[in-house]
Amino acid sequence: MNTSQQHSPSANPEVWPIAVIGAGAAGLLAALFAARAGAQVLLCETRPKPGAKIRVSGGGRCNVLPSQSELDDFFTHGSRNALRNLFASWPLAQVREFFESDLGVALKVEETGKVFPVSDDPREIVDGLLGACATAGVRLRAGERVTALRCIDGPAGARFELEFESGALVRARNVILATGGLSLPKTGSDGFGFALAQSLGLRVEATYPALVPLLAADAGWGELAGVSLRVELRARAGDKLLGASAGDFLFTHRGFSGPAALDISRFLAAPGGESVRLEAAWLAFDAAEWERRLSGGGVRAVGGALRELLPRRLVTRLTELAAVPLERRLAELTRDERKRLVTALAACPLAIAGNEGYRTAEVTAGGVALDEVATKTLEARAVPGLYFAGEVLDVVGRIGGFNFLWAWVSGRKAGMAAASAVLSADAAR
Ligand SMILES: Cc1cc2nc3c(=O)[nH]c(=O)nc-3n(C[C@H](O)[C@H](O)[C@H](O)COP(=O)(O)OP(=O)(O)OC[C@H]3O[C@@H](n4cnc5c(N)ncnc54)[C@H](O)[C@@H]3O)c2cc1C
Repeated sequence: MNTSQQHSPSANPEVWPIAVIGAGAAGLLAALFAARAGAQVLLCETRPKPGAKIRVSGGGRCNVLPSQSELDDFFTHGSRNALRNLFASWPLAQVREFFESDLGVALKVEETGKVFPVSDDPREIVDGLLGACATAGVRLRAGERVTALRCIDGPAGARFELEFESGALVRARNVILATGGLSLPKTGSDGFGFALAQSLGLRVEATYPALVPLLAADAGWGELAGVSLRVELRARAGDKLLGASAGDFLFTHRGFSGPAALDISRFLAAPGGESVRLEAAWLAFDAAEWERRLSGGGVRAVGGALRELLPRRLVTRLTELAAVPLERRLAELTRDERKRLVTALAACPLAIAGNEGYRTAEVTAGGVALDEVATKTLEARAVPGLYFAGEVLDVVGRIGGFNFLWAWVSGRKAGMAAASAVLSADAAR
């Protein structure tokens, strides 16, 4: 790919048909598909190396896609119908085909339903995308942040002026904003797109960390740090079940992590989440299943029976919470003791004091409202020529490759739409 790493102010800024701001998952796809459609594309990136988040994703293995996807795997304040149409524009099977056949990255599906490169190496994905961008003629300008984007009425149809940290200026007829959210700021995403959208009068839904480790209100759970097991977590507001997530769970020194905790965190980290209650069903067994496992135990002690199923430290903690002596024989449990024990096992309250914030959150929920963009193009309705893609938009997915799926699909959509606008404008001249 043509790259430029040294930038200096110029009196006559270049005018690009399309400038993409942000070379993460969404920006790389936007640039690639715009260039493949025949437009000249400048791809601007703060970090010296594009795709920083792809490189650290999926525990360093890059969970590039889910193996199956439903609309309910995604959350937005906007129209579900708009979201359905967007995903229908590039079905999951075709996205997978793109990675395997087009980029030549062999993929595998794991038991959890997550899709990874066979090599477990995220560089394969980044290098594949960068190689494809180079072949398509995308010009990469990496290592300098875009500090301002102004709407102008410039020569050669330029509608936007980009200013870089050095003071260098570049003009563009169309801009695709793929600057990500606020999560893991060291990868370059610092909320630029949110601030810019707001300054242009576009509505931005309140943002908050999602897929984020939770902080326990009760420091006692910290004694279980390092213990992991399968759970089902449920988030409730009053009597209403807001959502549930099943999977692996990890106690940390400060609270709760692992895929199940990250997945449910959205309900607790959202505005108003302070009143949401979290409860755990250990091993994902419901009350009836725990009742069954505790019945017929006869002379066995509670502690011994539970330790056959659950980690020792958790058993100690749960029996303390239920106020049931570890040595009590199962057959001798009073009705109340049995009830308290089953509650601690199947609906154990986990009081939450907050979350670890954007420093460790995998994604940012909220963002530029979906109804601010046209679904067919992702172009801002109020700012012609300005397109959005990826996490900057108000769409967030569950854990399991869904957030990359959104970035790939929306990036491609914005890139193709911007290119089509350029080509039609050129044809009309
Ligand atoms: C630790 C971690 C692990 C994750 N693992 C997975 C996973 O396995 N599977 C999955 O589906 N999702 C995963 N995610 C989420 C996924 O990485 C994001 O949803 C996805 O990267 C969003 O893509 P994006 O292109 O919209 O934003 P980003 O990837 O954040 O890219 C935005 C880019 O824009 C650049 N930028 C921002 N502002 C400017 C500016 N002013 N000028 C120039 N450049 C700018 C940034 O430097 C960055 O490169 C993970 C996230 C984290 C933090």
